Amino acid sequence: MTERITHHIDGGKTPGRTRESEVYNPATGAVTGLVPLADEPEAARAVAAAAAAFPGWRETPPLRRARILSRFLELLRRDMEPLAKVITAQHGKVLEDARGELARGSENVEFACAAPQLLKGEYSENVGPAVDSYAIRQPLGVVVGITPFNFPVMVPLWMCANALACGNTFVLKPSERVPSAALLLADLLLEAGLPKGVFNVLHGDARTVNSLLHQEQVQAVSFVGSTAVAKSIYQTGTAAGKRVQALGGAKNHMVIMPDADLDQVVDALIGAAFGAAGERCMAISVAVAVGDAVADALVKRLRTRIQAIKVGPGDNDYSEMGPLITAAHRARVQSYIEQGVSEGAELLIDGRSLRVPGYENGFFLGPSLFDRVTSEMRIYREEIFGPVLCLVRCQDFNSALELVNRHEYGNGAAIFTRDGDTARTFANAVQAGMVGINIPIPVPVASHSFGGWKASLFGDHHIYGMEGIRFYTRLKTVTSRWPAGIRAGHNLNFPVL
Ligand code: NAD
Repeated sequence: MTERITHHIDGGKTPGRTRESEVYNPATGAVTGLVPLADEPEAARAVAAAAAAFPGWRETPPLRRARILSRFLELLRRDMEPLAKVITAQHGKVLEDARGELARGSENVEFACAAPQLLKGEYSENVGPAVDSYAIRQPLGVVVGITPFNFPVMVPLWMCANALACGNTFVLKPSERVPSAALLLADLLLEAGLPKGVFNVLHGDARTVNSLLHQEQVQAVSFVGSTAVAKSIYQTGTAAGKRVQALGGAKNHMVIMPDADLDQVVDALIGAAFGAAGERCMAISVAVAVGDAVADALVKRLRTRIQAIKVGPGDNDYSEMGPLITAAHRARVQSYIEQGVSEGAELLIDGRSLRVPGYENGFFLGPSLFDRVTSEMRIYREEIFGPVLCLVRCQDFNSALELVNRHEYGNGAAIFTRDGDTARTFANAVQAGMVGINIPIPVPVASHSFGGWKASLFGDHHIYGMEGIRFYTRLKTVTSRWPAGIRAGHNLNFPVL
């Protein structure tokens, strides 16, 4: 049955008005839902609901906001299974991976529950005679979150947990390919006691986003998605006077030194390159082997391990890797594989021939491995966002580091080594926002912050953790003199102590 999906505005289900888009189950290829694509009037409505809810939410004491978030956290845990099932049904990732996404996403709510502590200001007594000074962080107002398809729950939670804790009201524009999980979050927030209009879900596409970016009352925009869109949202949003953080695409390298534990490396690479079918912004898509001996040994081990990956629908206990998000995205990834072959890379494992019995219409693509990839090739330069691992051979550490640093993207980078000097030099010199040492996917925990460098992030703030608190608040510094009756005297000069 095809479900008609609604928006969630001002605490209620709101049907779409005109345009719609199909939602698929990527494992079967079947259309399972129709999602509305909002235009300007609906965007204005969602923002108006959030704006109307702002004064009350702003005045709600941080401890009360935190209590609601704490109840929300309990409800997320209670509904972990139905949420994971919705993620798998629309995204395709295997259930265990969906549970992992929920667990990591929930940590951001746990962090935000410390709102009273996080929002504590600074106070300096006696900065002048009878003069005190204090600094406070105030909420911005209505903020918008625009999220990608690959983490239907975690990325919205990266944003809304802190935004709400700080006293903002929120309009979430989830990916139109995975719209339903956001609605479950909205229901759980209401059940937790969040007042109507504080959190709204508006479905849509580029046109919808454009309408949101031009709403006068929107104060800030958090975006996570591909680099081209991130850059354009940053430019449009900031030109319209909004605060914007826009996280983009990636091409994450893992440098493998000759002294690395190769068993550990292979385990790490299998998960980091092929987990979620490579549809992760922190996936490792480039393995950089230092020395041909390491490269040859790696290839030997990877061949058997990659061929053993169990690809199938995400809703069973057997599959390790699910399908890609759409048929169009699979065709795009396939075209990169063709491109790699024509550019002269060695295709050691070709995932294009994979068939999953009983799921012939699903958007499956097997894992692929390229060897002897060079930095001029498109498969090296561009983000593929699929289960394709490129192996680049470098002769020494310095050339490996230079290779990573020359790349356009700088989201994450990892090194596997047993040598502390090399690891420290890498962490110090690598041009990436998140670094792993013997850790393949260094996604920071919720009390730190997530964000890349170079073309992987536009804006001044990383997302979540203390950076999230800073992004979703405005600093105000108050200088006051008491008692009010004190005479300071008349002086036309700049006040000094
Ligand atoms: P996308 O850029 O196509 O879409 C992201 C969001 O932007 C969606 O909500 C979509 O509706 C909207 N959108 C799409 N085109 C738009 C346009 N022209 N104007 C305005 N809005 C538009 O990304 P995706 O395919 O959903 O997600 C995959 C991408 O996201 C990859 O590039 C991946 O690396 C990136 N990503 C980055 C991070 C990170 O933290 N840096 C995390 C997850 C995903």
